[in-house]
Amino acid sequence: MKLRTLLASAAAAVVFATGAYAEGLVGIAMPTKSSARWIADGENMVKQFEAAGYTTDLQYAEDDIPNQLAQIENMITKGVNVLVIAAIDGTTLSNALENANAAGIKVIAYDRLIRDSGNVDYYATFDNFKVGVQQAESLVAGLKERFPDVKPWNVELFGGSPDDNNAFFFYNGAMSILQPMIDAGDIAIPSGQMGMEQVGTLRWDGAVAQARMDNLLSANYTDKQVQGVLSPYDGLSIGILSSLKGVGYGSGDMKMPIVTGQDCEIPSIKSIIAGEQYSSIFKDTRELARVTVGMVDAMLKGGEPEINDTSTYDNGVKVVPSYLLEPVSVDASNYEKVLVGSGYYTADQLK
Ligand code: BGC
Repeated sequence: MKLRTLLASAAAAVVFATGAYAEGLVGIAMPTKSSARWIADGENMVKQFEAAGYTTDLQYAEDDIPNQLAQIENMITKGVNVLVIAAIDGTTLSNALENANAAGIKVIAYDRLIRDSGNVDYYATFDNFKVGVQQAESLVAGLKERFPDVKPWNVELFGGSPDDNNAFFFYNGAMSILQPMIDAGDIAIPSGQMGMEQVGTLRWDGAVAQARMDNLLSANYTDKQVQGVLSPYDGLSIGILSSLKGVGYGSGDMKMPIVTGQDCEIPSIKSIIAGEQYSSIFKDTRELARVTVGMVDAMLKGGEPEINDTSTYDNGVKVVPSYLLEPVSVDASNYEKVLVGSGYYTADQLK
């Protein structure tokens, strides 16, 4: 046994022996507060865990990998019973999780798969491939609606962070719709930039996406216009839209391109209402919290957590049993029904 592992289990034993923490302490490690969705995830989990009688320790790591690692190590030392982790970089937690395992701590990968570790018990997430399919379907619907007479449609592609397993699922899901259309000549990619190694956006950073869009426009669009941008996340869409507006799209004879998104964050829903961003994907974090609390409850009471997928999420060491929730595509036609109707937002929040 490694020294760190020994120390961690010793610390956990002390905590258990002194009874300093009640049974049912849940460590929740979230990536960042810079995006509203993770704030909602954290709040929903704390609320629902507490309602079920658990104590929580919720930490945000501001997208800093060593920070998240330290937070998780600290939770292990404190003697949590379960770790719920939305990883910043899904490949950097193997040692920490070895320590968790040695201390008998269960681990749930929350929304993002934790890779390269056998010590992940369950995965609670959305159907991430379907998110990408819905983004591309909405992009194509928007292109048909706004640019019925253009052929081929000029489109540029953006991917999420290459250290987030989800980013590949989103991209592959989207390409399952777009690639056949590119092959058929209905869609052109004037920059030629395709594949996650070329279109990925490290840490899902909107400023990085904005800078890349600036470059794409100045290098490829001096004599043509872009009609669509596949964006996998609202925070990137905002950067992309501001780059587009900066060179005149959305006014005069430069129609705003169709720009997709994800998470239904309030600034993006306002942008959809204003006719700028075209769509987003709603992932109900209340539901993800519910599934996660259910998994923890079952595990700690010796039951079997509910899962609905045992084949998709191979983390490099094992296929992690998963529960996949359904994402919902949102645009100007249904945001009220989906977001306000479900009580996720109030009408006032979107004004
Ligand atoms: C989540 C998305 C989110 C992105 C950026 C992904 O792992 O699944 O909902 O948009 O991270 O935070």
